[in-house]
Amino acid sequence: MKVRAYHSSNISDPDVHHDHDDCVSGKQIPSYNKVSGTGGYPLCKICKNLG
Ligand SMILES: [Zn+2]
Repeated sequence: MKVRAYHSSNISDPDVHHDHDDCVSGKQIPSYNKVSGTGGYPLCKICKNLG
């Protein structure tokens, strides 16, 4: 499902943002590291493929 843009606050995570809550990469971000917004990062490739 498409959701509002979010990204990880963890600097060791890829510099991308996500806009799907079923993204396998986005799912690995623990809730305490999840930040809403793009963070100025490009959209993750998996989310892009999910449309
Ligand atoms: Zn993603």
